[in-house]
Amino acid sequence: MKIAVLSGKGGTGKTTFSSSFAFVTKSLLIDTDIEEPNSHIFLKGKTSQEVSIFNHFPKVDMEKCTLCGKCGDFCRFNAIIPAKNRVVIFGESCHDCGGCQLVCPTNAISWEKREIGKIFVEKSYFNSDLLYGKLNIGEMSGVKIIKGLHGMAKGEDIIIDCPPGTSCNTVNALEGSDFAILVTEPSPFGLSDMKLVVQLLQDMEIPFGIVINKADDENSEILDFCDKNSIEILGELPFSREIAKSYSEGKIIADALPDSQEIFKNILKKVKEYGN
Ligand code: SF4
Ligand code: SF4
Repeated sequence: MKIAVLSGKGGTGKTTFSSSFAFVTKSLLIDTDIEEPNSHIFLKGKTSQEVSIFNHFPKVDMEKCTLCGKCGDFCRFNAIIPAKNRVVIFGESCHDCGGCQLVCPTNAISWEKREIGKIFVEKSYFNSDLLYGKLNIGEMSGVKIIKGLHGMAKGEDIIIDCPPGTSCNTVNALEGSDFAILVTEPSPFGLSDMKLVVQLLQDMEIPFGIVINKADDENSEILDFCDKNSIEILGELPFSREIAKSYSEGKIIADALPDSQEIFKNILKKVKEYGN
C-alpha cells in the first residue's frame, strides 16, 4: 500500500509524523520533498548509493534555424526564446518535454543534458530503507527526481513524505498513492492551507484522513470542518514539550517517546482498513 503523508505548508509536523510512521511500520520511506529533504536527518542512515538525475534541454543549430519562432510559441515555460539573431535557451526553466523539437520545421534542435539533482539510497539506523531526492540549487523543476524516486521504490508498504502545499511536485509525489494522511495543526493558517490540500486530494480521488499535530484546546475549527465535510480524523499528536524537544534534537518521536507508538499504530490500523 502506498501511503502519502502531506501537509498544507511546511513546519506542520509532516516529517515528524512520517519518520515515526516509518519507525513503527519499518516500511520504506521515500522523501519526495526534494527542495528541502530532511527525513534522512531523523533516520540517520548510511548512503549506499547516489544516482544522478539529468534533464535534457535544447541546443539549436543556427545553420539550420530560420528563426521562425515556432519553438518559442510552443514553450509555455519561456525556456526557449527566438530573438533577432539567435535562439536563447534558459536550460534551468526547461521541463524536458521535447515539444520544441517536435514543432521545429528545420530539425535545428538537438539535446544537451545537465544534472538537476540526485537520489540517495540509505538504510536507516533501525534497518529500514530510505530513498530521498535532492534538487540542485537553481533548478526550477525536480519532477524527474520525484518520478525517479517512485520508479526505484519497491516494497509492500511505501510511505511517501510529500512536498508541502499543492505544487506540481506535490501532485507528482501523490501519483499512485492508495491513501493520504494530511497532517495539520490547529492554527488559522493551518486550516486554510489544509483546505487547499483537501481540494487537491478530492480532485485526484485519493482517499485520505487527517492527523492533527500539536493538538490542544484550539482544534475546534478543524474538527468542525472535518465533521461538515465527512473527513475522518485518524489521530492526534498532542502539543507537548517532550515532542518538541525530541524533534529539535533530531530524534524520531516514536523511538524517543515509546508511549507515543500507540498513536501511530492506531492510525496505521485505520489506514489499512481503507486498503482492504
Ligand atoms: S523541451 Fe519543452 S520545456 Fe524545454 S524548451 Fe523545449 S518546449 Fe520548452
Ligand atoms: S522552431 Fe526551429 S527553426 Fe524555428 S526558431 Fe525554433 S529552432 Fe529555429
